[in-house]
Amino acid sequence: MAIDEKEFNKKMEEVKSKLKKSVIVPQQLTGSDRMHFKCYPGIGCFTKCCSGIRINLTPYDIYRLKKRLGMSYHDFLMEYTVPRSIDGTPLPIVVLKLKDDEPKSCPFVTPEGCTVYSDRPVTCRYYPIGMAIMKKHDKKTGQDFFIKIKEDHCLGHKENTEWTIDEWRADQEADLYDEMNNDWMEVVLKAKSLGMVEFGQKSLDLFFMVSSNLDMFRDFAFNSNFLDAYEISPAVVEKIKDDELELLKFSLKWLRFTMFGEGDFKVKDEARRRAKERQKAAAMEKARLKEERAKKALSKTPEEVMREADLEEE
Ligand code: SF4
Ligand code: SF4
Repeated sequence: MAIDEKEFNKKMEEVKSKLKKSVIVPQQLTGSDRMHFKCYPGIGCFTKCCSGIRINLTPYDIYRLKKRLGMSYHDFLMEYTVPRSIDGTPLPIVVLKLKDDEPKSCPFVTPEGCTVYSDRPVTCRYYPIGMAIMKKHDKKTGQDFFIKIKEDHCLGHKENTEWTIDEWRADQEADLYDEMNNDWMEVVLKAKSLGMVEFGQKSLDLFFMVSSNLDMFRDFAFNSNFLDAYEISPAVVEKIKDDELELLKFSLKWLRFTMFGEGDFKVKDEARRRAKERQKAAAMEKARLKEERAKKALSKTPEEVMREADLEEE
């Protein structure tokens, strides 16, 4: 079953307006659709697609890249990224910081190709298939939809090699990246469907921490009362303590739970009780301050009120 045509056209317009000179093939593609494409060192346009681009980094992209480069999350973020937000949402993420040269090259491109090829970000893997911005999971059929990007400079489309979208994605390890980023993508897609809604600053900070810096999340999880607040089995705690990938998966599941209440995290009764008490105390303090201000206003003389009004006018 195809996604709603109105929704498809709306998303298509969104994508077109964001991709400067690109040409989006106006067609919904499924995994079994076929395309001609081949990209290889020696093709006339080799690495032309690696400059002047915006590459959003997903949590799994960052994990793979910083591991590849043997860096801490902090050092990787400082050296290779700049903060941005996901289009159409206030969600803060990081994108690859391009070089200061004329074509604004990716920091990992050389004349010989990509120096982090086997750990390149998911955006590079999907190309020329549009990433999740156009991917829509149909709940009834379980089918995913994709779009094809055909840019003038990309000669790969003129090659004879033929793929189905599924074959192309398998070749690019896209399924692994999708699986690892799944909970994160669900949060992003949900936020996108809500538009520019207000998220509290605390939620945005948590989103940024979980999306970009697993070292910070580890510190948060193990050096605060985080683990006391949820019913988490000792086996899981052991696993996430020793295995970075398990910690990443855990953090993304928790993000989904904490932002949209989805998933099987269980808050302990004691933590729930303490949270209610904190809320109650905050509400009482707010009411007390309001009452105090009202009393103070009533006790003012007319002269004092006039003087304050004059000062405000100045
Ligand atoms: S990460 Fe690699 S494939 Fe992606 S833009 Fe940079 S050089 Fe090109
Ligand atoms: S422009 Fe297309 S064919 Fe050329 S290097 Fe990039 S992806 Fe490959």
